[in-house]
Amino acid sequence: MLKHPKAARSVPQSLSVAPRFGMEGVTIPRHEMPVGEMPPDVAYQIVHDELMLDGNSRLNTATFVTTWMEPQADRLMAECFDKNMIDKDEYPQTAEIESRCVHMLSRLWNAPDPRQATGCSTTGSSEAAMLGGLALKRRWQRKHARGGRPNLVMGINVQVCWEKFANYWDVEMRLVPMDGERFHLNAEEAVKLCDENTIGVVAVLGSTFDGSYEPVAEICAALDEFQARTGIDVPVHVDGASGAFVAPFVDPDLVWDFQLPRVASINTSGHKYGLVYPGVGWIIWRDAQALPEDLIFWVNYLGDDMPTFALNFSRPGAQVVAQYYNLLRLGFDGYARVHGYAREVATRLSGLIADLGPFELITRGDELPVFAVKLRDGVTNYTVFDISRALRERGWQVPAYTFPKNREDVAALRVVVRRGFTHDLADMLVEDLKRHLQHLDKQSGPVHDAANSSSFHH
Ligand SMILES: *Cc1c(COP(=O)(O)O)cnc(C)c1O
Repeated sequence: MLKHPKAARSVPQSLSVAPRFGMEGVTIPRHEMPVGEMPPDVAYQIVHDELMLDGNSRLNTATFVTTWMEPQADRLMAECFDKNMIDKDEYPQTAEIESRCVHMLSRLWNAPDPRQATGCSTTGSSEAAMLGGLALKRRWQRKHARGGRPNLVMGINVQVCWEKFANYWDVEMRLVPMDGERFHLNAEEAVKLCDENTIGVVAVLGSTFDGSYEPVAEICAALDEFQARTGIDVPVHVDGASGAFVAPFVDPDLVWDFQLPRVASINTSGHKYGLVYPGVGWIIWRDAQALPEDLIFWVNYLGDDMPTFALNFSRPGAQVVAQYYNLLRLGFDGYARVHGYAREVATRLSGLIADLGPFELITRGDELPVFAVKLRDGVTNYTVFDISRALRERGWQVPAYTFPKNREDVAALRVVVRRGFTHDLADMLVEDLKRHLQHLDKQSGPVHDAANSSSFHH
Protein backbone atom coordinates (compact mmCIF):
# COMPACT_ATOMS: atom_id res chain seq x y z
CA MET A 1 0.00 0.00 0.00
CA LEU A 2 1.35 3.32 -1.03
CA LYS A 3 1.29 5.88 1.69
CA HIS A 4 2.01 9.54 1.48
CA PRO A 5 4.24 10.32 4.47
CA LYS A 6 1.82 12.96 5.67
CA ALA A 7 -1.19 10.65 5.39
CA ALA A 8 -0.10 8.75 8.46
CA ARG A 9 -1.77 11.00 11.03
CA SER A 10 -5.40 10.19 11.47
CA VAL A 11 -7.93 12.67 10.15
CA PRO A 12 -11.70 12.78 10.56
CA GLN A 13 -13.42 10.77 7.91
CA SER A 14 -15.68 13.57 6.83
CA LEU A 15 -14.98 17.04 5.55
CA SER A 16 -17.03 19.92 6.81
CA VAL A 17 -18.34 21.83 3.84
CA ALA A 18 -17.68 25.57 3.64
CA PRO A 19 -20.62 27.55 5.03
CA ARG A 20 -21.75 28.83 1.68
CA PHE A 21 -24.65 27.91 -0.51
CA GLY A 22 -26.65 27.54 2.71
CA MET A 23 -24.73 24.39 3.58
CA GLU A 24 -23.74 25.11 7.20
CA GLY A 25 -23.36 21.85 9.02
CA VAL A 26 -23.25 19.71 5.88
CA THR A 27 -20.38 17.25 5.59
CA ILE A 28 -19.06 15.11 2.77
CA PRO A 29 -16.99 11.94 3.02
CA ARG A 30 -13.27 12.60 2.84
CA HIS A 31 -11.93 9.29 1.63
CA GLU A 32 -14.97 7.74 0.01
CA MET A 33 -16.59 8.76 -3.20
CA PRO A 34 -19.91 10.44 -2.41
CA VAL A 35 -22.90 8.39 -3.48
CA GLY A 36 -24.82 11.24 -5.01
CA GLU A 37 -24.01 14.22 -7.18
CA MET A 38 -23.55 17.80 -6.08
CA PRO A 39 -23.84 21.00 -8.10
CA PRO A 40 -20.61 21.98 -9.91
CA ASP A 41 -20.40 25.34 -8.11
CA VAL A 42 -20.43 23.62 -4.73
CA ALA A 43 -17.81 21.06 -5.76
CA TYR A 44 -15.66 23.86 -7.17
CA GLN A 45 -15.90 25.88 -3.97
CA ILE A 46 -15.02 22.91 -1.77
CA VAL A 47 -11.88 22.08 -3.74
CA HIS A 48 -10.94 25.73 -4.20
CA ASP A 49 -11.26 26.45 -0.48
CA GLU A 50 -9.20 23.47 0.54
CA LEU A 51 -6.36 24.56 -1.76
CA MET A 52 -6.10 27.95 -0.02
CA LEU A 53 -3.71 26.28 2.39
CA ASP A 54 -1.16 25.53 -0.31
CA GLY A 55 1.79 27.92 -0.23
CA ASN A 56 2.18 30.94 -2.48
CA SER A 57 4.33 29.56 -5.29
CA ARG A 58 5.93 32.93 -6.06
CA LEU A 59 7.47 33.00 -2.56
CA ASN A 60 8.89 29.54 -3.02
CA THR A 61 12.63 29.79 -3.54
CA ALA A 62 12.92 26.00 -3.18
CA THR A 63 11.60 25.02 -6.56
CA PHE A 64 13.25 25.30 -9.96
CA VAL A 65 9.88 24.89 -11.63
CA THR A 66 8.05 27.73 -13.38
CA THR A 67 5.49 29.53 -11.26
CA TRP A 68 4.58 32.38 -13.59
CA MET A 69 3.72 32.53 -17.27
CA GLU A 70 2.28 35.29 -19.40
CA PRO A 71 -1.51 35.43 -19.62
CA GLN A 72 -1.33 34.68 -23.35
CA ALA A 73 0.43 31.43 -22.51
CA ASP A 74 -2.28 30.63 -19.96
CA ARG A 75 -4.90 31.15 -22.65
CA LEU A 76 -3.09 28.95 -25.19
CA MET A 77 -2.68 26.20 -22.62
CA ALA A 78 -6.37 26.34 -21.74
CA GLU A 79 -7.18 26.00 -25.44
CA CYS A 80 -5.03 22.86 -25.58
CA PHE A 81 -6.09 21.06 -22.39
CA ASP A 82 -8.00 18.50 -24.49
CA LYS A 83 -5.05 17.61 -26.72
CA ASN A 84 -3.30 14.32 -26.20
CA MET A 85 0.35 14.49 -27.21
CA ILE A 86 0.31 10.87 -28.36
CA ASP A 87 -2.51 11.38 -30.88
CA LYS A 88 -0.14 12.64 -33.51
CA ASP A 89 -2.60 11.74 -36.23
CA GLU A 90 -5.50 13.58 -34.65
CA TYR A 91 -3.40 16.59 -33.67
CA PRO A 92 -0.83 16.81 -36.46
CA GLN A 93 -0.04 20.46 -35.76
CA THR A 94 0.72 19.75 -32.12
CA ALA A 95 3.05 16.99 -33.34
CA GLU A 96 4.60 19.44 -35.80
CA ILE A 97 5.12 21.95 -32.99
CA GLU A 98 6.82 19.31 -30.85
CA SER A 99 9.12 18.52 -33.74
CA ARG A 100 9.94 22.22 -34.24
CA CYS A 101 10.90 22.50 -30.57
CA VAL A 102 13.18 19.44 -30.96
CA HIS A 103 14.83 21.11 -33.95
CA MET A 104 15.25 24.41 -32.12
CA LEU A 105 16.85 22.79 -29.08
CA SER A 106 19.03 20.62 -31.25
CA ARG A 107 20.36 23.76 -32.96
CA LEU A 108 20.62 25.66 -29.69
CA TRP A 109 22.84 22.87 -28.37
CA ASN A 110 24.92 22.69 -31.56
CA ALA A 111 24.01 19.21 -32.82
CA PRO A 112 26.28 18.37 -35.78
CA ASP A 113 23.42 17.94 -38.24
CA PRO A 114 20.37 19.79 -36.93
CA ARG A 115 18.33 18.81 -39.99
CA GLN A 116 18.26 15.30 -38.54
CA ALA A 117 17.38 16.38 -35.03
CA THR A 118 16.70 13.33 -32.89
CA GLY A 119 14.71 13.73 -29.70
CA CYS A 120 11.29 14.15 -28.18
CA SER A 121 9.32 15.85 -25.46
CA THR A 122 8.77 14.11 -22.13
CA THR A 123 6.90 14.87 -18.93
CA GLY A 124 10.07 16.31 -17.40
CA SER A 125 13.77 15.71 -16.96
CA SER A 126 13.14 12.53 -14.98
CA GLU A 127 11.51 10.77 -17.91
CA ALA A 128 14.12 12.30 -20.22
CA ALA A 129 16.88 10.92 -17.98
CA MET A 130 15.33 7.43 -18.14
CA LEU A 131 15.32 7.59 -21.94
CA GLY A 132 18.85 8.99 -22.16
CA GLY A 133 20.10 6.37 -19.72
CA LEU A 134 18.32 3.55 -21.56
CA ALA A 135 19.94 4.57 -24.84
CA LEU A 136 23.36 4.49 -23.14
CA LYS A 137 22.62 1.08 -21.63
CA ARG A 138 21.43 -0.39 -24.93
CA ARG A 139 24.49 0.95 -26.79
CA TRP A 140 26.75 -0.61 -24.20
CA GLN A 141 24.86 -3.94 -24.34
CA ARG A 142 25.38 -4.13 -28.09
CA LYS A 143 29.12 -3.72 -27.69
CA HIS A 144 29.36 -6.10 -24.73
CA ALA A 145 27.41 -9.17 -25.78
CA ARG A 146 29.16 -11.24 -23.12
CA GLY A 147 27.53 -9.23 -20.35
CA GLY A 148 28.84 -7.95 -17.03
CA ARG A 149 26.97 -5.50 -14.82
CA PRO A 150 26.62 -2.11 -16.43
CA ASN A 151 27.52 0.97 -14.39
CA LEU A 152 26.91 4.69 -14.71
CA VAL A 153 29.36 7.22 -13.24
CA MET A 154 28.16 10.49 -11.68
CA GLY A 155 28.63 12.86 -8.77
CA ILE A 156 26.80 12.21 -5.50
CA ASN A 157 25.04 15.56 -6.07
CA VAL A 158 22.89 14.12 -8.90
CA GLN A 159 19.15 14.54 -8.69
CA VAL A 160 17.11 11.57 -7.45
CA CYS A 161 16.02 10.68 -11.02
CA TRP A 162 19.44 9.07 -11.60
CA GLU A 163 19.05 6.92 -8.52
CA LYS A 164 15.68 5.84 -9.91
CA PHE A 165 17.21 5.11 -13.29
CA ALA A 166 19.89 2.91 -11.73
CA ASN A 167 17.35 1.13 -9.53
CA TYR A 168 14.62 0.58 -12.13
CA TRP A 169 16.95 -0.55 -14.92
CA ASP A 170 19.45 -2.44 -12.84
CA VAL A 171 22.51 -0.35 -13.50
CA GLU A 172 25.19 0.11 -10.86
CA MET A 173 25.42 3.70 -9.70
CA ARG A 174 29.03 4.78 -9.26
CA LEU A 175 29.03 7.91 -7.18
CA VAL A 176 31.87 10.35 -6.71
CA PRO A 177 31.52 11.82 -3.22
CA MET A 178 32.01 15.49 -2.39
CA ASP A 179 35.43 16.40 -1.08
CA GLY A 180 36.55 19.55 0.72
CA GLU A 181 35.33 22.54 -1.27
CA ARG A 182 34.42 20.36 -4.28
CA PHE A 183 30.64 19.95 -4.21
CA HIS A 184 30.21 18.29 -7.62
CA LEU A 185 31.83 15.91 -10.10
CA ASN A 186 35.26 16.61 -11.53
CA ALA A 187 37.14 15.01 -14.41
CA GLU A 188 39.80 13.19 -12.45
CA GLU A 189 37.39 11.45 -10.06
CA ALA A 190 34.94 10.57 -12.86
CA VAL A 191 37.60 8.78 -14.91
CA LYS A 192 38.86 6.84 -11.89
CA LEU A 193 35.48 5.07 -11.64
CA CYS A 194 35.22 4.13 -15.34
CA ASP A 195 35.86 0.67 -16.75
CA GLU A 196 34.71 -1.49 -19.67
CA ASN A 197 31.23 -1.82 -18.12
CA THR A 198 30.64 1.94 -17.85
CA ILE A 199 27.68 2.87 -20.02
CA GLY A 200 28.33 6.58 -19.58
CA VAL A 201 29.17 9.50 -17.34
CA VAL A 202 26.43 11.91 -16.29
CA ALA A 203 27.59 15.52 -16.04
CA VAL A 204 25.15 17.94 -14.44
CA LEU A 205 24.85 21.43 -15.84
CA GLY A 206 23.51 23.11 -12.80
CA SER A 207 23.73 21.08 -9.61
CA THR A 208 20.54 21.08 -7.58
CA PHE A 209 22.57 21.44 -4.38
CA ASP A 210 24.24 24.75 -5.15
CA GLY A 211 23.52 25.78 -8.76
CA SER A 212 27.11 25.16 -9.91
CA TYR A 213 28.00 23.81 -13.35
CA GLU A 214 30.02 20.62 -13.57
CA PRO A 215 33.05 20.91 -15.85
CA VAL A 216 31.61 19.06 -18.86
CA ALA A 217 34.45 19.92 -21.26
CA GLU A 218 37.12 18.81 -18.77
CA ILE A 219 35.25 15.56 -18.11
CA CYS A 220 35.08 14.91 -21.87
CA ALA A 221 38.79 15.69 -22.32
CA ALA A 222 39.71 13.31 -19.51
CA LEU A 223 37.58 10.60 -21.10
CA ASP A 224 39.35 11.22 -24.46
CA GLU A 225 42.63 10.61 -22.70
CA PHE A 226 41.16 7.54 -20.96
CA GLN A 227 40.10 6.14 -24.34
CA ALA A 228 43.56 6.74 -25.83
CA ARG A 229 45.08 4.87 -22.88
CA THR A 230 42.62 1.96 -22.56
CA GLY A 231 40.62 1.82 -25.79
CA ILE A 232 37.38 2.22 -23.77
CA ASP A 233 34.97 4.75 -25.26
CA VAL A 234 32.67 6.21 -22.58
CA PRO A 235 29.91 8.58 -23.78
CA VAL A 236 28.69 11.54 -21.71
CA HIS A 237 25.09 12.47 -20.99
CA VAL A 238 24.54 16.05 -19.85
CA ASP A 239 21.77 16.50 -17.32
CA GLY A 240 20.91 20.06 -18.20
CA ALA A 241 17.57 20.04 -16.37
CA SER A 242 18.17 23.68 -15.50
CA GLY A 243 21.41 24.67 -17.19
CA ALA A 244 20.67 23.59 -20.76
CA PHE A 245 18.05 26.35 -20.85
CA VAL A 246 20.33 28.88 -19.11
CA ALA A 247 23.93 28.52 -20.33
CA PRO A 248 23.24 28.95 -24.08
CA PHE A 249 21.71 32.38 -23.39
CA VAL A 250 23.88 33.84 -20.67
CA ASP A 251 27.14 31.89 -20.94
CA PRO A 252 27.68 31.82 -24.71
CA ASP A 253 31.41 31.10 -24.34
CA LEU A 254 30.96 28.03 -22.17
CA VAL A 255 31.44 24.84 -24.23
CA TRP A 256 29.35 22.08 -22.70
CA ASP A 257 27.00 20.78 -25.45
CA PHE A 258 27.19 18.77 -28.70
CA GLN A 259 30.23 20.80 -29.73
CA LEU A 260 31.99 18.22 -27.56
CA PRO A 261 31.93 15.03 -29.68
CA ARG A 262 31.69 12.87 -26.55
CA VAL A 263 28.34 14.36 -25.51
CA ALA A 264 25.79 11.81 -26.73
CA SER A 265 22.60 13.25 -25.27
CA ILE A 266 21.22 16.16 -23.28
CA ASN A 267 18.05 16.46 -21.21
CA THR A 268 16.34 19.56 -19.95
CA SER A 269 13.18 20.49 -18.07
CA GLY A 270 10.99 22.74 -20.21
CA HIS A 271 9.20 23.52 -16.94
CA LYS A 272 12.31 24.93 -15.24
CA TYR A 273 14.29 27.60 -17.12
CA GLY A 274 12.38 26.67 -20.28
CA LEU A 275 9.74 28.80 -18.51
CA VAL A 276 6.71 26.51 -18.93
CA TYR A 277 4.34 25.34 -16.16
CA PRO A 278 5.04 21.80 -14.85
CA GLY A 279 4.71 18.91 -17.25
CA VAL A 280 7.33 19.16 -20.00
CA GLY A 281 10.92 18.05 -20.52
CA TRP A 282 13.13 17.33 -23.52
CA ILE A 283 15.73 14.77 -24.51
CA ILE A 284 17.90 15.33 -27.56
CA TRP A 285 20.54 12.96 -28.97
CA ARG A 286 23.52 14.29 -30.91
CA ASP A 287 22.49 12.23 -33.96
CA ALA A 288 20.36 9.25 -34.95
CA GLN A 289 23.24 6.82 -34.21
CA ALA A 290 23.19 7.81 -30.54
CA LEU A 291 19.64 6.46 -30.17
CA PRO A 292 19.47 2.69 -30.81
CA GLU A 293 16.60 2.03 -33.18
CA ASP A 294 15.33 -1.00 -31.30
CA LEU A 295 14.20 1.29 -28.48
CA ILE A 296 11.73 3.00 -30.78
CA PHE A 297 8.20 1.65 -31.03
CA TRP A 298 6.07 2.09 -34.08
CA VAL A 299 2.41 2.51 -33.26
CA ASN A 300 -0.22 2.48 -35.93
CA TYR A 301 -3.53 1.98 -34.23
CA LEU A 302 -4.19 5.68 -33.94
CA GLY A 303 -4.36 5.85 -37.72
CA ASP A 304 -0.81 6.35 -38.86
CA ASP A 305 2.58 4.76 -38.36
CA MET A 306 4.29 6.88 -35.74
CA PRO A 307 7.61 6.41 -33.95
CA THR A 308 7.44 6.75 -30.19
CA PHE A 309 10.08 6.57 -27.52
CA ALA A 310 8.55 7.41 -24.16
CA LEU A 311 7.59 5.81 -20.89
CA ASN A 312 4.10 7.30 -21.03
CA PHE A 313 1.51 6.93 -23.71
CA SER A 314 -1.14 9.63 -23.27
CA ARG A 315 0.06 12.95 -21.95
CA PRO A 316 -0.94 16.60 -22.20
CA GLY A 317 -0.17 18.57 -25.34
CA ALA A 318 -0.68 21.98 -23.73
CA GLN A 319 2.79 22.14 -22.16
CA VAL A 320 4.49 21.43 -25.47
CA VAL A 321 2.43 24.14 -27.14
CA ALA A 322 3.38 26.52 -24.31
CA GLN A 323 7.06 25.66 -24.83
CA TYR A 324 6.72 26.59 -28.48
CA TYR A 325 4.96 29.82 -27.48
CA ASN A 326 7.91 30.78 -25.27
CA LEU A 327 10.53 29.93 -27.87
CA LEU A 328 8.62 31.96 -30.43
CA ARG A 329 7.65 34.84 -28.18
CA LEU A 330 10.97 35.33 -26.41
CA GLY A 331 13.43 34.19 -29.03
CA PHE A 332 17.11 34.00 -28.16
CA ASP A 333 17.21 37.61 -26.98
CA GLY A 334 14.16 37.23 -24.76
CA TYR A 335 15.54 34.15 -22.97
CA ALA A 336 18.86 36.00 -22.56
CA ARG A 337 17.01 38.98 -21.06
CA VAL A 338 14.86 36.92 -18.67
CA HIS A 339 17.73 34.72 -17.46
CA GLY A 340 20.19 37.65 -17.44
CA TYR A 341 17.84 39.45 -15.09
CA ALA A 342 17.45 36.34 -12.91
CA ARG A 343 21.22 36.10 -12.64
CA GLU A 344 21.45 39.77 -11.75
CA VAL A 345 18.86 39.30 -8.98
CA ALA A 346 20.59 36.13 -7.74
CA THR A 347 24.10 37.59 -7.59
CA ARG A 348 22.91 40.83 -5.98
CA LEU A 349 20.81 38.95 -3.43
CA SER A 350 23.65 36.57 -2.56
CA GLY A 351 25.87 39.63 -2.03
CA LEU A 352 23.34 41.27 0.28
CA ILE A 353 23.02 38.07 2.30
CA ALA A 354 26.79 37.70 2.52
CA ASP A 355 26.96 41.27 3.89
CA LEU A 356 24.59 40.46 6.77
CA GLY A 357 27.44 38.90 8.72
CA PRO A 358 26.61 35.38 9.87
CA PHE A 359 26.65 33.81 6.39
CA GLU A 360 29.25 32.40 4.06
CA LEU A 361 28.37 31.85 0.40
CA ILE A 362 28.91 28.39 -1.10
CA THR A 363 27.91 29.70 -4.53
CA ARG A 364 26.91 33.21 -5.61
CA GLY A 365 24.31 32.60 -8.32
CA ASP A 366 26.64 33.39 -11.21
CA GLU A 367 26.15 30.01 -12.91
CA LEU A 368 22.53 28.95 -12.48
CA PRO A 369 20.75 31.92 -10.86
CA VAL A 370 20.74 29.75 -7.75
CA PHE A 371 22.95 30.01 -4.70
CA ALA A 372 23.60 28.20 -1.45
CA VAL A 373 24.79 29.75 1.81
CA LYS A 374 25.86 28.31 5.13
CA LEU A 375 26.36 29.79 8.56
CA ARG A 376 29.89 30.74 9.60
CA ASP A 377 31.62 28.29 11.91
CA GLY A 378 31.29 30.66 14.89
CA VAL A 379 27.47 30.68 14.76
CA THR A 380 26.35 27.97 17.16
CA ASN A 381 23.16 29.23 18.80
CA TYR A 382 20.90 28.78 15.75
CA THR A 383 20.90 26.70 12.55
CA VAL A 384 19.94 27.18 8.92
CA PHE A 385 16.90 25.07 9.81
CA ASP A 386 15.86 27.68 12.38
CA ILE A 387 16.22 30.38 9.72
CA SER A 388 14.21 28.41 7.19
CA ARG A 389 11.47 27.86 9.74
CA ALA A 390 11.41 31.56 10.73
CA LEU A 391 11.12 32.71 7.13
CA ARG A 392 8.02 30.56 6.75
CA GLU A 393 6.25 33.00 9.03
CA ARG A 394 5.56 35.37 6.15
CA GLY A 395 5.29 32.65 3.51
CA TRP A 396 8.88 32.44 2.25
CA GLN A 397 9.94 28.93 1.47
CA VAL A 398 13.73 28.84 1.66
CA PRO A 399 14.88 25.24 2.02
CA ALA A 400 17.56 24.12 4.45
CA TYR A 401 19.32 20.80 3.94
CA THR A 402 22.55 18.97 4.68
CA PHE A 403 25.03 17.97 1.99
CA PRO A 404 25.76 14.31 1.15
CA LYS A 405 28.91 12.23 1.70
CA ASN A 406 31.70 13.38 2.52
CA ARG A 407 30.37 16.81 3.48
CA GLU A 408 27.48 15.83 5.77
CA ASP A 409 28.83 18.50 8.09
CA VAL A 410 27.60 21.26 5.74
CA ALA A 411 24.06 22.52 6.25
CA ALA A 412 22.91 25.12 3.74
CA LEU A 413 20.06 27.35 2.69
CA ARG A 414 19.34 27.51 -1.04
CA VAL A 415 17.65 30.21 -3.05
CA VAL A 416 16.44 29.54 -6.61
CA VAL A 417 15.79 32.74 -8.53
CA ARG A 418 13.48 32.37 -11.51
CA ARG A 419 11.23 34.43 -13.71
CA GLY A 420 8.89 36.43 -11.51
CA PHE A 421 11.38 36.86 -8.66
CA THR A 422 12.28 40.55 -8.76
CA HIS A 423 14.86 42.79 -7.09
CA ASP A 424 11.94 44.09 -5.05
CA LEU A 425 11.04 40.63 -3.71
CA ALA A 426 14.73 40.01 -3.04
CA ASP A 427 14.88 43.19 -0.92
CA MET A 428 11.83 42.10 1.05
CA LEU A 429 13.43 38.71 1.68
CA VAL A 430 16.60 40.38 3.00
CA GLU A 431 14.56 42.66 5.27
CA ASP A 432 12.70 39.68 6.73
CA LEU A 433 15.95 37.80 7.13
CA LYS A 434 17.49 40.73 9.04
CA ARG A 435 14.48 40.92 11.32
CA HIS A 436 14.63 37.20 12.13
CA LEU A 437 18.39 37.24 12.69
CA GLN A 438 17.93 39.80 15.49
CA HIS A 439 15.69 37.32 17.31
CA LEU A 440 17.70 34.24 16.49
CA ASP A 441 20.83 35.90 17.73
CA LYS A 442 19.26 36.03 21.23
CA GLN A 443 18.37 32.36 21.12
CA SER A 444 20.45 30.30 23.55
CA GLY A 445 20.80 27.23 21.35
CA PRO A 446 19.62 25.59 18.09
CA VAL A 447 15.95 24.53 17.93
CA HIS A 448 15.60 22.91 14.53
CA ASP A 449 18.01 20.55 12.83
CA ALA A 450 17.93 18.23 9.83
CA ALA A 451 16.09 15.59 11.85
CA ASN A 452 13.13 17.67 12.98
CA SER A 453 12.63 19.82 9.89
CA SER A 454 10.75 18.96 6.74
CA SER A 455 13.07 18.82 3.80
CA PHE A 456 11.44 20.45 0.85
CA HIS A 457 14.27 21.15 -1.53
CA HIS A 458 13.85 19.54 -4.92
C1 LIG B 1 14.92 19.03 -11.48
C2 LIG B 1 16.03 18.16 -11.91
C3 LIG B 1 15.79 16.88 -12.40
C4 LIG B 1 14.40 16.29 -12.46
O1 LIG B 1 13.64 17.05 -13.33
P1 LIG B 1 12.05 16.98 -13.45
O2 LIG B 1 11.81 17.81 -14.67
O3 LIG B 1 11.50 17.59 -12.23
O4 LIG B 1 11.66 15.56 -13.65
C5 LIG B 1 16.86 16.14 -12.85
N1 LIG B 1 18.11 16.62 -12.80
C6 LIG B 1 18.39 17.86 -12.32
C7 LIG B 1 19.82 18.35 -12.32
C8 LIG B 1 17.35 18.68 -11.87
O5 LIG B 1 17.64 19.90 -11.41
